[in-house]
Amino acid sequence: MAGIYIHVPFCRHKCSYCDFTSFPDKIEMAEAYMACLYKELKMRGDELKEYEFDTVYFGGGTPSYIPPKLILGAMNQIRKCFRLKPDAEVTLELNPGTIGESKVQTYLQAGINRFSIGLQTAIDEQLADLGRIHNVRDYVYATKLLAGQNFSTDVMLGLKNQTKDDVAKTIELAYRCGSKHISMYALTVEDGTPIYTDYLNGELPDSDEVAEMYEFGRKLLEEKGYKRYEISNFAMDGYESKHNLNYWRRGEYIGFGVSASSFMQGKRFTNTFDMDEYMKCVISGFYPAVTSEQVSETDAKFEYVMLALRTREGLSMQGYKNAFGTTLAEDFPNALKKTVKYLELDGERLKIKDEYLYVQNSVLMPFMEEERE
Ligand code: SF4
Repeated sequence: MAGIYIHVPFCRHKCSYCDFTSFPDKIEMAEAYMACLYKELKMRGDELKEYEFDTVYFGGGTPSYIPPKLILGAMNQIRKCFRLKPDAEVTLELNPGTIGESKVQTYLQAGINRFSIGLQTAIDEQLADLGRIHNVRDYVYATKLLAGQNFSTDVMLGLKNQTKDDVAKTIELAYRCGSKHISMYALTVEDGTPIYTDYLNGELPDSDEVAEMYEFGRKLLEEKGYKRYEISNFAMDGYESKHNLNYWRRGEYIGFGVSASSFMQGKRFTNTFDMDEYMKCVISGFYPAVTSEQVSETDAKFEYVMLALRTREGLSMQGYKNAFGTTLAEDFPNALKKTVKYLELDGERLKIKDEYLYVQNSVLMPFMEEERE
């Protein structure tokens, strides 16, 4: 499998927790930026002629903030420069505060067939605390416009004054509005973001409280028919995100736009995070990648284990052997011994037991230590 990622770095307002590459004051540059992105697509098109791509993902930033004709233009350019599978999954991240009927029509015309909506919480005061530009009513309106479409909803845990009841309300709302997929993840507090002050003041739930909320949310989601297929991702049958599954299966992907990263032909590379530098580079006909490394075999083995064990499908022992020519037991004998109580074998697949999936980082630690020996 292979995926295409498009980074759209414009937002109407910077959320209080945001550490992504997004610019709240540069929307007037959207046309010029996307023109550069179309050129970057063209530059890569020739060298990736032999690939057939399974997924496209517009992330950000807020892709639904820019004029929709620029999304249509990007899809036309992707189709011109690359081979896309006829049933390719094409996802667009959507902020409920930026959407209207004609935008949705243009997205459908462009071939977008999956939407990822950033709700975060169904409590308006918490949305205001996060600096989100939308309220709960905007989310309901967005889902009405997307009735009958495949869409996912983001739910955030660990917010100021958040209770289990709030988590339940958020999940209930997403379910009632027809979300086929829910991403439920903990707020990450980054140094330098406004919300960091709340964290220093002890105003955010601690990690044990967040773990309890997660467990509560997980049970509720499963009661409603959302199956967990990765630590933070739950879907009705058949609605798992193909684009993300490709990441966790260590599939190849190519990223376009400022700060986008790629993994192709054993190499990881990342574009510049600086918008002006990105545009200057592309206009001058250079690739805007600023870091590039060939992944060593040792790192590749650890990545394979780390990514596969995040998922419910787990790690295929045969797949590992096919990829590296050695077995997991040969490469990680000590880590397997140390983590035996957390793991289970399901046929030929190794999985983290359901009850330990949320603490997978500590389960993976011995694999990381052994990789470094
Ligand atoms: S909408 Fe997303 S990318 Fe934009 S500021 Fe908020 S969190 Fe950051």
